[in-house]
Amino acid sequence: MFSLTKDLGLYAQSRHRSSCRWASTWCKKHCYMGKFERLWPSTMGPFLARMEQEWKQGPAAHAHELPKTVKRVRLAKSGEVLGTIQDIDKVAEFCHVMAARGIEVWIPTRAWHNELEHRLNLDLIQHIENRLATIPGVHVQASIDVDMNAGLIRQIVNRGWSTMYVGSDTWHPLSNRGHHVVKCKKTFGGVKGACATCKTGCFSGVQTHVWLKKH
Ligand code: SF4
Repeated sequence: MFSLTKDLGLYAQSRHRSSCRWASTWCKKHCYMGKFERLWPSTMGPFLARMEQEWKQGPAAHAHELPKTVKRVRLAKSGEVLGTIQDIDKVAEFCHVMAARGIEVWIPTRAWHNELEHRLNLDLIQHIENRLATIPGVHVQASIDVDMNAGLIRQIVNRGWSTMYVGSDTWHPLSNRGHHVVKCKKTFGGVKGACATCKTGCFSGVQTHVWLKKH
């Protein structure tokens, strides 16, 4: 389930696009995993099907795959890991195992919002806050994009959530509002493997708004 992603410099786990029940219109249009699936259907299809089978056991069942030297992991490199109450419980179990080993966990999610109904997913948000916010070393980010409703972004930011933004390399919805916006050094600076040691972005430990360069 976990494999080293050299581009990030981290071990990460993947899920299939079918887990992305809260994907935005922008996500669906620009999904890079969708592109990979179209390019290499004979390898990506079976790989992601296996990832989904393994997800049923939960990531904690695969924690032993991580080398002892690992300090950070990402859930997930693709797909959604907090899309349901059951998924959040699986992730919380995993994060407790990671905290006991002193490993930080980075979790970007779209599950915070419902684009079709223009509202926050309050049931999922509250469960994420209740189950994950107090576990040491867990970094949850609301994934946001250039086409997203500004009012919804304000609501999740006002709850204290960090964000990860993509979609424009010249405009950020929070940069003129006095928020702490950080340009990602891996994507803007081209520093391969930067996530392993980055201290100012996704692993900063305070409310931070990370700005990713477009693929
Ligand atoms: S901000 Fe840092 S941790 Fe986040 S994606 Fe960029 S390099 Fe990686």
